[in-house]
Amino acid sequence: MYRKSDKPLITAQAINERLESLAKDIAAFGCDIVITVLSGGFLFSADISKRIASPKLQLAFIRASSYGNGTESSGNLKITGLENIDIRGKKVLVIDDILDTGNTMFGIKKALSGMGAEEIRTCVLLDKPARRTADITADFVGFEIENKFVVGYGLDYAGDYRTYPEIWTMEESDG
Ligand code: 5GP
Ligand code: MG
Repeated sequence: MYRKSDKPLITAQAINERLESLAKDIAAFGCDIVITVLSGGFLFSADISKRIASPKLQLAFIRASSYGNGTESSGNLKITGLENIDIRGKKVLVIDDILDTGNTMFGIKKALSGMGAEEIRTCVLLDKPARRTADITADFVGFEIENKFVVGYGLDYAGDYRTYPEIWTMEESDG
C-alpha cells in the first residue's frame, strides 16, 4: 500500500517560479512545435506553452506506453499519435512529465528522428538521474529529484492525484 506524503516535495509556488525561467530558456530555443506526451505531461506543457505564447507555436500530442512488469518501464515501447504530426523542417520540443529510466524519451526521440525535423529537443518537469538506464539526458529540466515515486501536477498513481498543483511523494504504508 502507498499513501501520499503529508507535505509536498515541490510546492505550487516553487513550480510556478521555475516555470518562468524554464519558459524563457525554451523561448530562446525558438521551437516551432511542442509535442506533449499524454497524459502525464499535460499540465506542465500547458503552463509552459502559455508562457511562450508565440503565434506560430504549434501543439501536438502523443501517447507512449511500455509493456513491462508493471511499475518498471521496459524497452518495449508503443507510441501512438505520430501519424498525424508533420515535423519536417521544424524545431521540435518534446515535453513529458518525468525522465526515469529514460526508455520512454529515448524511444520517442528515436521514432521522431526519421521524420525530417530540423532539430529535436526534450523537456521534462522532473528528472530522476539515479534511475537512468537509457543513454539520454533532457535538454530542459524543471527539477532533479531523488529516486522516489511522485504524483501531482499531471503525474498519477493508478489514475489519481493528477490534478494536484504540487508534487507529492508516495510513501509505503502498512495499509
Ligand atoms: P521512463 O521510461 O523514463 O522510465 O519512464 C517514464 C514514464 O514513467 C513517465 O512518463 C511516467 O509516466 C512514469 N513514471 C516514472 N517515474 C514516475 C513517478 O515517480 N511517478 C509517476 N506518477 N510516474 C512515473
Ligand atoms: Mg508518462
